[in-house]
Amino acid sequence: MEVIRRLSQRFTPTPLAGKPINLYKTPQFLHSRTPIIQSQHKPILNPNRPFSSSTSRSPASWLSGFGMIKKITKLPRILQAGHPVLHEPAREVTVEEIGSDRVQKIIDDMVQVMRRRPGVGLAAPQIGIPLKIIVVEDLKEYIAEAPEEENIAQDRRPFDLLVILNPKLRKKSDKSAFFFEGCLSVGGYRALVERYLEVEVNGLGRDGKPIKVEACGWQARILQHECDHLEGTMYVDKMVKRTFRTVENVDLPLANGCPKQGVR
Ligand SMILES: [Zn+2]
Repeated sequence: MEVIRRLSQRFTPTPLAGKPINLYKTPQFLHSRTPIIQSQHKPILNPNRPFSSSTSRSPASWLSGFGMIKKITKLPRILQAGHPVLHEPAREVTVEEIGSDRVQKIIDDMVQVMRRRPGVGLAAPQIGIPLKIIVVEDLKEYIAEAPEEENIAQDRRPFDLLVILNPKLRKKSDKSAFFFEGCLSVGGYRALVERYLEVEVNGLGRDGKPIKVEACGWQARILQHECDHLEGTMYVDKMVKRTFRTVENVDLPLANGCPKQGVR
């Protein structure tokens, strides 16, 4: 899942010393949850193309003498809405498959792809793998980019990387909240989505052992978003009508009759 940045945040002057950034020439900065501090050093990658690790972009010539050439690894691209694999249910990973090199590699790729964007969650179908695997993670530094009052309203707190295979999600209460949500597979857009506030997810870790995650607030939202992907459901399939908008317009007023953001 992509993370939301407020309009005010997106126009925050760069905290870095150096050349001022011309926002008109670098519109992608406005779409990124990543602070400018990171974008200056990491080119925004075209989500429609496969991309590779930074090592593949390094000139090999001057490294070769030092034996520093790393293995060039190509990461899978993030598929965008419309690709059939995003709109069909994924299948469970079998016990035999979990320890396989293939599944372990898929998990490693997913973590790298999520962190590279960066995002706070990714489901295997988003990289073209129709298996029930999700990775989620929310870091202090990501959260620090959002206004504190927003983090409080969303009950957003950091949590370490979770890899969950064959997750089964259930709500723990009927309490819900409406907030804008984005998706790495629907680049550039947001919509209001109602999600349960408290959920429990049972599944398997990458070692095949059972894990149980109890989550609330924003973490619960991320888990619901990613588990939906495994059923071929994207947030646009359950968004509140008439709230779909571009990232640039996320702070503009909602249409009459739309629910307000916040806990229900
Ligand atoms: Zn998504």
